[in-house]
Amino acid sequence: MRRARKRKATVDEDARREYARLRRRARRLGLVVDHIVPLAPCRVCGAQGEHAPRNFQLLTARDNERKGDRCMKCYVAQCEVQVQRHVRKALISLK
Ligand SMILES: [Zn+2]
Repeated sequence: MRRARKRKATVDEDARREYARLRRRARRLGLVVDHIVPLAPCRVCGAQGEHAPRNFQLLTARDNERKGDRCMKCYVAQCEVQVQRHVRKALISLK
């Protein structure tokens, strides 16, 4: 039990340090740090992410805003659906 608590504390500290490092990098690049799978459940599939380095990514503020409370997989899938819809409309208007 004691060991488990210590391991968790180490993981939390790693996450905190990695998050701070990414925030600095993001700021330099004009990007933001995002949770690939949101901490609050994804509004499409319900997946819930954790505050851990493997769940961090850099995004543009605009993409982050569009992604909202969705996981990356659902966000990309819905982007693809939108692109296909646009392409279909464009093809119809060419007929
Ligand atoms: Zn999802």
